[in-house]
Amino acid sequence: DQTLRSYHRLVHEKAYVNGQWAEASSGKTFDVYNPSTQEKIGCIPDMNSGDTERAIQCAAEALESWKETTAKERSTILRRWVDLCNENKEDLAKILTLEMGKPLQESIGELNYGIGFLEWFAEEARRVYGDIVPSPAKSKKILVLKQPIGVTGMITPWNFPHAMITRKAGPAIAAGCTVVLKPAEDTPYSALALCELAEKAGLPSGVLNVVTCSRENSADVGKTLCKSPTVKQISFTGSTAVGKILLEQSASTVKRVSLENGGNAPFIVFETADIDKAVTGVMGSKFRNTGQACICANRIMVQDSIYETFLEALSKRMEQELHIGDGFNPKSTQGPLINNRAVEKIEALVQDAKSNGAKIFLGGQRKEGNFYEPTLIRDVTTDMKCYKEEQFGPMAAVIRFKTEEEAIYLANNTSSGLAGYVFTENISQMWRIAEKLEFGIVGVNEGLPAMPEAIFGGWKESGLGREGGKYGMEDYLEIKYVCMGGL
Ligand code: ADP
Repeated sequence: DQTLRSYHRLVHEKAYVNGQWAEASSGKTFDVYNPSTQEKIGCIPDMNSGDTERAIQCAAEALESWKETTAKERSTILRRWVDLCNENKEDLAKILTLEMGKPLQESIGELNYGIGFLEWFAEEARRVYGDIVPSPAKSKKILVLKQPIGVTGMITPWNFPHAMITRKAGPAIAAGCTVVLKPAEDTPYSALALCELAEKAGLPSGVLNVVTCSRENSADVGKTLCKSPTVKQISFTGSTAVGKILLEQSASTVKRVSLENGGNAPFIVFETADIDKAVTGVMGSKFRNTGQACICANRIMVQDSIYETFLEALSKRMEQELHIGDGFNPKSTQGPLINNRAVEKIEALVQDAKSNGAKIFLGGQRKEGNFYEPTLIRDVTTDMKCYKEEQFGPMAAVIRFKTEEEAIYLANNTSSGLAGYVFTENISQMWRIAEKLEFGIVGVNEGLPAMPEAIFGGWKESGLGREGGKYGMEDYLEIKYVCMGGL
């Protein structure tokens, strides 16, 4: 049964504030649709600025006791949350596919990745070490303490409705912070299911609050989080345009801002590459999540001498392996795009490329509903929109280059700096390129670099701060210098 009702153990059609399932004060709701069938799957509270203020107050009250818990106590609760997520993984994955559309197997993959962050930060909670620094004065000691930053505000996207929450709320809660989170309007149910399991795991009321709202109210809710003097940190994953708005809005309170904005990933294939490996890399990097990830290969750059061979090999693999269809159909590897707006964007990018001289090698057509054919476009050049903009869909745009210098120039010729990829079997070239790429994440002969133990984050306009890995907790900690004198 593919309706929300089948998961009523995990999903309530309410927001979650102060440990209570909550309505919007206005009584308003908004509808959520399955992007594959375009059928309504449910409706939930459309909260506003006032509701957000209330959630912030609850988070502030909960902070008073949460920040006093020991790291081990927090770790134990997070660990129980991990176990409950694992026990309910199948259902969480189905909820995810229902609201977001990705193939069930990919939803399971996202759950493994997302739960991995809760597990990692349950462990990291106990390793928030300070420093004792040798002092130049005998009478003074220099100590550095790390303490939770306080109430945090989070805004998350629809493309990874589970993992983008655990990657933020996991370290915040582990650090002793409390959270007010606004999930994407397209995919609120994965967030709410996480609340249900957090409560069962023993997370106290008010530590994790989820404020749901429609696209129309998102700007108000976001502004309330950014402008609130009570909120000490904002963490966002989404488009660069919205990230910039939040950064500006956070200036008046000089808030800590963590941003995971969009990318424009170069994927460089040198003539020194193992072509099979590079094709496998593109298949994972480009077509996972139907191309809807911020680290997806956006500009596939292939060296002159292997250009035709590479295109042939890639199109063959695309034909063999990519099957569009509903996420609940086990044969599907390519789900729908999230909504009509996303499909129209891809249509426009393909049209723009065609009219500027690029050639469609495979695909290039919209299918029924929100589906779009996996598409391979050759002879893309730097004046085309698909070179400059994040595509966020199943189009592989292939560019031809001649020399290594040209490849590096093209790769770095963007205001984005999230992920970049390079394929070569030449070890000196690997090092050279890995060092020269101006990106926060570099995949060398690897198209799928993300994992909880590794850091995730961008250079340039792609972001501020890092998530995951040993640095992932730092955005949620303040450091304090204590000088003990008179000794
Ligand atoms: P996309 O275009 O892929 O949906 P967005 O950056 O618009 O990416 O969305 C990411 C998140 O930001 C979502 O939760 C969305 O509701 C939220 N959002 C959109 N506009 C604003 C805004 N003006 N202020 C705060 N949050 C916003």
